[in-house]
Amino acid sequence: MRLFLLLFLLFGLQIALAQDPSKSELAPCGTPPGIAPMLKAYRSNPGAFITERSSDTLLVGMQLHLLAQNNGTGRISPERLLDSYCRLNADFAGTGIRFYSKFDWNRIDSTAWYQHDTITKGIDMMLTNNVPDVLNIYFASNVADNCGYNLPYAGIAISHGCSGSSSHTWAHEVGHALSLPHPFIGWERKVYSPSNPTPDTLTYDYTHFHASLDLVNAPLDTALTEYVDGSNCTIAADLICDTPPDYLSYGWNCNDQNLSFLVQTDPDGATFRSDGSLFMSYAFDNCQNRFSAEQIAIMRATLLTEKVAWLTTEPPGPDVQGPVALQFPINQEIVPPVGTMLRWSSVPGATHYLVQASILQSFILKTLDLVVTDTQFIAPDLLANRKYYWRVRPFNNWSACTTFSQSGVFNTTSIVSTTQPDSEGWRCYPTLLASGQSLTLELPEAWLHHPVQYQVYDASGRMMWQNNVTPDETLSILGLPSNNWTPGVYRFVAIGEKGLKTQTLVVF
Ligand SMILES: [Zn+2]
Repeated sequence: MRLFLLLFLLFGLQIALAQDPSKSELAPCGTPPGIAPMLKAYRSNPGAFITERSSDTLLVGMQLHLLAQNNGTGRISPERLLDSYCRLNADFAGTGIRFYSKFDWNRIDSTAWYQHDTITKGIDMMLTNNVPDVLNIYFASNVADNCGYNLPYAGIAISHGCSGSSSHTWAHEVGHALSLPHPFIGWERKVYSPSNPTPDTLTYDYTHFHASLDLVNAPLDTALTEYVDGSNCTIAADLICDTPPDYLSYGWNCNDQNLSFLVQTDPDGATFRSDGSLFMSYAFDNCQNRFSAEQIAIMRATLLTEKVAWLTTEPPGPDVQGPVALQFPINQEIVPPVGTMLRWSSVPGATHYLVQASILQSFILKTLDLVVTDTQFIAPDLLANRKYYWRVRPFNNWSACTTFSQSGVFNTTSIVSTTQPDSEGWRCYPTLLASGQSLTLELPEAWLHHPVQYQVYDASGRMMWQNNVTPDETLSILGLPSNNWTPGVYRFVAIGEKGLKTQTLVVF
């Protein structure tokens, strides 16, 4: 607790909670006003930050933390996360900066962090879970009533509601993490009104934040209001000259030129409309599509200096080729509701596959929605007598802009074909097999590392198949039945040093 308070004293000064008078329930971004030291250094001498690496593609390692409630429910869906990640890299496509997941997703079950209503709780979440030398990103249901926020010393939080393929919140917060302020800095929590004279200076006000833990009771800094003619652009507002004046600190919609409908007037009497194409503005997502050239230079300079630990010099991983081709079950094949193995083709570059199954063609409700690293998966209990749709999306830690396979369709039978393990722990399933479906064997530990002979006989006692193995794992997948087996009843036999096991199989 003492450590926490100390940290808070050190960093709390940089934080304020945006409480924008936006029409939407969420403030677009809770990142406080403030000029990063890095931005000040860059502004005073931009040439000093041009280095040999400045034309490289900068590869930034991230750790994604995915919050859920204590019981594991509510986590962002893999599909939404992949779409968001794809959008992040698309938004940065013109910057020479590319992001990748350095480590596997970190799943955290904590209702308190999953729905944290204050930045203080978010600080606790980040300082408890952060991984060093990467950009830490947290996805949660509620992130202090904001779409997102960035803590310069800790990481980024993004709400589920502001994620997805059409949200630029992630890009906006990464902009903050790489030293960019809002173009309207100084106007946070203030409402510009064209009927009032525009002030020459704006005071940063942290009062609302101090209401929860009051350590500093004076305003901390002052921003100059930026002029339309650019005369004070190096010392006013965000200190960036190719982001024109903007006084709008609430979510706003744009015209077809991505400009604000509201005409604003600078202190000199010149009028302008805000540029909503900038990711760092508070324009709606449909308006935003770029960082300015100078914003890009500042982000790159930040990565090459104070955030250099986030960069990797390893070559980027391969893009994932696709899509996946589903192999089984497809074309309305009939399978048992238990133990069906879904199989698909591997895709070059893919290390992970998102598997979804649904009884609805739209996949709005999903029976299966999980990530696997193999190209097959044994479905747990499905409903009997139902038509199912399923599809697979490949990805890796570098490449998420992939599409799903075409949907496969299969039907489940009404017959339940599970067997219980016997007293020794031996069983095989399903006992009702479609053509092309595999048989799963579970062996007792005592059977491992000894020769075993598997045989299958048809109803007339003719041996159809035989295989000699020395199993070293308790779970085995056998490619049964063979294609030329006619529908009917078969007998599976396993003969080992420890005994003999048999199981009736029905092939249909
Ligand atoms: Zn922001």
